[in-house]
Parts: sequence; C-alpha cells; structure tokens
Amino acid sequence: MGIIINETVFSPSYVPPKLPHREQQLQQLDEMLSNWLRNPGNYYPRVTLLGRPGTGKTVTIRKLWELRQNEAVARFVYINGFLYRNFTTIIGEIAKSLNIPFPRRGLSRDEFLALLIEHLRERDLYLLLVLDDAFNFTPDILSTFIRLGQETDKLGAFRIALAVVGHSDTILNSLDPSTRGIMGKSIIRFTPYTKDQIFDILYERAQLGLAKGSYSEEIIQMIADITGAQSHLDTSRGDARLAIDILYRAAHIAQQSGRRQIMPEDVRKSSKEVLFGVSEEVLQGLPLHEKIFLLAIVRTLKSTRAPYVTFGEAEEVYKMICEEYRERPRVHSQLWTYLGDLKEKGIIETRQNKKGEGVRGRTTLISIGTEPLETLEAVLVRMINEELR
Ligand code: ADP
Ligand code: MG
Repeated sequence: MGIIINETVFSPSYVPPKLPHREQQLQQLDEMLSNWLRNPGNYYPRVTLLGRPGTGKTVTIRKLWELRQNEAVARFVYINGFLYRNFTTIIGEIAKSLNIPFPRRGLSRDEFLALLIEHLRERDLYLLLVLDDAFNFTPDILSTFIRLGQETDKLGAFRIALAVVGHSDTILNSLDPSTRGIMGKSIIRFTPYTKDQIFDILYERAQLGLAKGSYSEEIIQMIADITGAQSHLDTSRGDARLAIDILYRAAHIAQQSGRRQIMPEDVRKSSKEVLFGVSEEVLQGLPLHEKIFLLAIVRTLKSTRAPYVTFGEAEEVYKMICEEYRERPRVHSQLWTYLGDLKEKGIIETRQNKKGEGVRGRTTLISIGTEPLETLEAVLVRMINEELR
C-alpha cells in the first residue's frame, strides 16, 4: 500500500471538514451573509476579504457556502480573477453559472449589466458573487461590479451580494473614492499562519490523505517550521498552500522510492522544488511575455552570479529567449511596464545604482531575493512551455 491514500485531499479545490484557526473569519462572514442568503433582496451585502496567498480566503468562503447552501435561496457564483479578467468573460461566466442564455457580444457594458439584472428578476434569482483574487481586474472593472449590486430591479429588489477577495488594501485604495465608499469598512482580514497554526492544518490534512504511520509529528513540525510565520506580522511566510504542497511532494518522493514512511530528507528535497516568497498562482497569472522577461532576469542573475542585473542586460537575454521560442519580442516600453508590475507583485526588487558600483551612468538594478533561481527558472520554463504548446 502507498503513502498517499486520498489524492483529492491535496487538490487545490478541496474543502476540508474543518478549518482550524479560521473560526473567527468564518463566523464574521456568516454574520454578514447568511441572513441575506436565506432571505435575500432587501439590501446589498458586501464584504472584502484581505490576506496574503495561502491564508485561507478562498477555502473559507467556499466553506461558508458549503454550510449555508441547503437553506440558501441565493446562488453561489464564483469568479476566479486569474482565469476571468475582462468584462465580457466575467459576465459570460456569471451567466453560465446561472444557466442563463447571454449574447456574447454586440452590447455595451451598461446594456449587458441591465440585461443581467433583467434576467435575474425574470427568473427570480439572487446571487452571492465572489470575485476571487480581484487584484487581477482593472479598478474600472472591479468598480463596475461593485456598483452593479447597488442597482435594484424594477421590483426594488437587490439581486446581488458581493465578496471581493484580495491580497492587500491596495485593491480598495486603487478604487475611486465613491466606489471605495460602497465597499465601506466591512473587511475580514486573514493573517499569515504561524508555525503552530500550520502544524494543525497539516496534521489534519495528513490524517485525511496519508496512510497511518507514514508520517510523524516531527515531519509535520519540520514543514511547519520552514513555512510558518514567526508572528502574524511576518508576511514573508505563513502560506498553508505551500505547506500542504511540500507535504504532498514529500509523500510522493517517499512513495516513489518504495518506502512506507516520509523521512526528513524527503521534506528537504521537496521544499527545494517549491517557491517560497512568490506564489505560483501569481506567476501563472502573468502575461506570457512578462514570464519570458522574468525568465530572462533569472537566467542573467544565474549566469553572472551577481546580486543584481541591469535592465539592459535583462533586455538582451530576453530577446535571445524570444528567438529560442520564436516569439516576437515586446518593445522596450512594454518591458518597463512588466518590470513595474513584477516589482508591484513583490517578485523582484529594483533600485537605482549608486556611484562607483561598476555600472556607468544611471541605471536600474534588478534583484531577486526570495527564491532559489534554479527553482524559479524551472517553474517559469514549465509554465512558458505549457502556454506555447
Ligand atoms: P488563499 O485563497 O488565501 O490564497 P486558500 O484558501 O486557497 O488560500 O488556502 C490555501 C490552501 O490551504 C488550500 O489547500 C486550503 O484548503 C488550505 N487551508 C488554508 N487555510 C486552512 C485552514 N484554516 N484549515 C485547513 N486548510 C486550510
Ligand atoms: Mg484564493
């Protein structure tokens, strides 16, 4: 018998029976939404969930729905911001989840929205709309959906409840003040998980998915130690997804080598295969050429062994990689935009050079502090190949 006895327990969409250390957030969500779900229409409930990747935002909102769906009159509509970004695909996905026929194009934004509200009224539908990882939307699109909920139909009913999920306050601060005002102060925060908290989460997951005796408390503790935050203020750690991923990979390595127990060496190996500071989800969401440009930065850093590269160096390597992949390189100014975005997402750091740093003139230096370059390169190459296949 193998070590992994239930694969689904490790899949990203799995919702476990219990969510240790998220009782309070779940309770807050429940207080804000459950009455409306049972008896919707009288007002427009809206809530923002904020926290770094892997802090349990998605699983908590799914849990709320799991708990309340039987008594709910409203439907659950989940929009993943990494997959659906522009107005037409979002509205198309909402229509699809509700099983309502919808024209693909030919309408203005306002007409689309009016049509949606009209359909909802005709079918007497209410929905809890979750905009997950909504930092992928432009402020303009996010505003549109925030404002949508304010509209009542001809009967005066509010058809929509809204949950916006993001990493930080930036997502709200980028909205215009009046839209920002609509979202108000109902924010639920998800702090990074501490080592002890990760331990509890991992232990439960191991019990659900791994064979008895295949893991020890020490193994779980080891993973908790390398992934858990020192405190709730330590934002460079505390990602439960990463912890679960390492456990799963370690179990896999042990199983592959024909053992019945996970050893510390398996954890060491598997933790080298994953990214720590950067979430894979965020990388996956980058446009293809931003990934290629990042790959160029990584390769340049690797080959020069220097702590930083200049923009010019990275651009040269970028052009070479484009040739390799037979892709037409993006223009200089576009690369600057990518650079700004990579910095904004915390994947790279940049600064201006100082005098006497071996580089002539004023230039921008780019560095990557958080990840082993090998791992980052491997992950990027895999993603780029998948995208170009
Ligand atoms: P986020 O949406 O904040 O990025 P997720 O909700 O996707 O994070 O959680 C990441 C992973 O960790 C998922 O596999 C989820 O099931 C698990 N997880 C997060 N928090 C908990 C918790 N409190 N208890 C059990 N599993 C959790
Ligand atoms: Mg999520």
